Amino acid sequence: MSIQSNLKFIREHIPSEVQLVCVSKFHPIDAILEAYACNERMFGESKVQELCAKYEALPKDIEWHFIGHLQTNKIKHIIPFISLIHGVDSLNLLSEIDNQAAKIGCKVNCLIQVHIAKEETKFGFSPDELLNLFHSGALKKFQNVQLCGFMGMATFTNDEAQIHLEFSVLKSLFDDVKATFFANDYNFSKLSMGMSEDYEIAIEEGSTMIRVGTLIFGDRGY
Ligand SMILES: *Cc1c(COP(=O)(O)O)cnc(C)c1O
Repeated sequence: MSIQSNLKFIREHIPSEVQLVCVSKFHPIDAILEAYACNERMFGESKVQELCAKYEALPKDIEWHFIGHLQTNKIKHIIPFISLIHGVDSLNLLSEIDNQAAKIGCKVNCLIQVHIAKEETKFGFSPDELLNLFHSGALKKFQNVQLCGFMGMATFTNDEAQIHLEFSVLKSLFDDVKATFFANDYNFSKLSMGMSEDYEIAIEEGSTMIRVGTLIFGDRGY
């Protein structure tokens, strides 16, 4: 299957209001250009060095999303051009993004990563931790960060009921926090959940943004 036909298939199977981040990590420039020719403009990368090289080489109307685990010492390299950072998984990282953004006088769009999976290895805040954080008001001081919503990853399993459950937990947390703390803030509108294996379930559970790699570009072959 070609990238073009893969994209056609996916686009036909997702509602038009759901945003598609084409996860191009470990795939070459040519593959991204193929998706670009199909009018895709949102691409996701997980390594700062790779992202910066691709940013330099590719058309400037691409919206770059950072979807990996971001190290604080590398934030400054992506701040000037990044459209959305998906995986803010600690207060320290949020604070560092805020610092670096303040230095160049910009506001950086961020999603807070929520730990919803059973696996211990996945990063993110627990729902309780996050609710406490919002109630404490501790997030208000980050003036150079625009909180746009949440991101989460479900357990890697064939148990669809489990995946439904985890995504539904994230969706209700998102709705709660939005109603309580962002009722008048249209920026807080993104719920990033769903990958190649589980994007259909994620959309059923209310995802507004899916991050799909393998289904578009094929295996990454690390
Ligand atoms: C790699 C990655 C994806 C894409 O995964 P696929 O299974 O290839 O669709 C999505 N989200 C995150 C956070 C990733 O690291």
